Amino acid sequence: MSEIMMQSTFAVPKPLNLINGKWVPSHTGRVLPVISPIDGIPFSDIADSDERDLDEAVIAARKAFESGPWAIFTATERGRLMAKLAARILEEVEPLAQLETKDNGKPIKQARTDMIMAARYFEFYGGAADKFHGEVIPFLQGYDVGMHREPHGVVGVILPWNYPAQQIGRSIAPALAMGNTVVLKPSEDACLSGLRIAQLALEVGFPAGVFNVVTGRGDVVGKALTEHRGVDFISFTGSPEVGTMIQIAAAKNYVGCTLELGGKSPQLVFEDADLDAALPVLVNALIQNAGQTCSAGSRVLIQRSIYDQVVEKLKARFEAVDVGTPGDDAIMGPVISAKQKQRVESYISEADQPLIASGCISECAPAGGFYVAPVLFGPCDPNSKIAQEEIFGPVLCVIPFENEAEAIAIANGTDYGLVASVWTRDGARQKRVAKALHCGQVFINNYGAAGGVELPFGGVRKSGHGREKGIIALHEFSRIKTVVNYFGD
Ligand code: NAD
Repeated sequence: MSEIMMQSTFAVPKPLNLINGKWVPSHTGRVLPVISPIDGIPFSDIADSDERDLDEAVIAARKAFESGPWAIFTATERGRLMAKLAARILEEVEPLAQLETKDNGKPIKQARTDMIMAARYFEFYGGAADKFHGEVIPFLQGYDVGMHREPHGVVGVILPWNYPAQQIGRSIAPALAMGNTVVLKPSEDACLSGLRIAQLALEVGFPAGVFNVVTGRGDVVGKALTEHRGVDFISFTGSPEVGTMIQIAAAKNYVGCTLELGGKSPQLVFEDADLDAALPVLVNALIQNAGQTCSAGSRVLIQRSIYDQVVEKLKARFEAVDVGTPGDDAIMGPVISAKQKQRVESYISEADQPLIASGCISECAPAGGFYVAPVLFGPCDPNSKIAQEEIFGPVLCVIPFENEAEAIAIANGTDYGLVASVWTRDGARQKRVAKALHCGQVFINNYGAAGGVELPFGGVRKSGHGREKGIIALHEFSRIKTVVNYFGD
């Protein structure tokens, strides 16, 4: 067992899946290495599962949904259990964060925040479990009509690697709150915190089969999960390319899905903006998690009259970013894998837009890690490749604009529409621009709202559809049955 495993008291026997309340090996007998992005060294293994493991997990989830103790849990009981899980996660913030940092590469402070957020999702949705219900519909004389809210059944959850623990909270907590059972296929690139959270769920008393985890490759286990006839709903977070496949598979099985996909989110800076407040946020909205955030603010649109002034300040901030400093001082860590590093670096080397500045990689960064210094390009053609495509790395494009209409046109001028921010002191402009932007969240004079568990989140077009976070997610993870009772005139 590696050092990090002992430090983090990560006691999951490995490499195993969690199926029907038990840790079981894969039928394949194969494993996938877990490589730390910090130094590029393998430090653990996960099961390289296949369709047989997945099938067992779906059968267990179905049984738990239909006839296990979970089927007769009241909403209040579900909520209590979720609150217990939240409390356990909070007790384990430090070891879980250490594990996440080792597995995913993110700075330890961010990993701690992620664990607190993961717990917060279970608190929030646990608290909502018995407060979100159906309605009675006034109808004709002699009728009693109820709109009953029911769980879908077995929910398949497929997640990426960028915020593994937070995303578990975001997708699994609302699913459980509504009484579904879950089969999770975490990312093969970072899934240890997810395995540990599943273990904690078992420890606090979630019945067998309610929360199952099968690790492995996307084109094997993920594909099998989306195509399985025993799955009633799919929650997918990941790339638009895979999201398209998920949607096709869901359509073939006539089940619903939410797709939380990528983004190319704009930050609009008008000439009346409070620049002192805006500047650190503009940079952090990009470099957080090494640019590997679906809602990263990867385009900064600046009004021409203040363009030079803002760019000068952004340049100074970019040049000051030190990547890969270990420990509590870390601001930006490595990207997730050698493949991702190579992908981001090829965007940078092939970019045909002017380079303004780049940060540097710390001398203390361990050799072999997947570090990429943040890069600032501009003035960029809004239609250039780097200003249009999601790079999912620390690359920021600055784009000048003349007026409000042009700013809106550029902001809406990509295939994506996830998040946007607007920096202006003009109240009427705040409202006009927020209304005109095509996306799921608009932040006025701020960005991201620290994750905002309470705030509905999701995209339009290539950023996906459906909404997670907030009470609205409970709509997605439940369905309505109308019961019409005729009792006579
Ligand atoms: P990805 O789409 O490659 O993988 C996501 C998950 O899908 C992984 O678990 C993977 O194993 C699985 N998968 C891969 N092929 C599959 C298939 N054929 N069938 C079923 N499942 C399959 O994405 P990634 O590289 O892990 O993450 C990066 C992408 O995710 C970026 O585009 C990013 O913007 C997006 N993302 C979006 C959000 C959001 O909330 N909108 C959040 C995080 C990441």
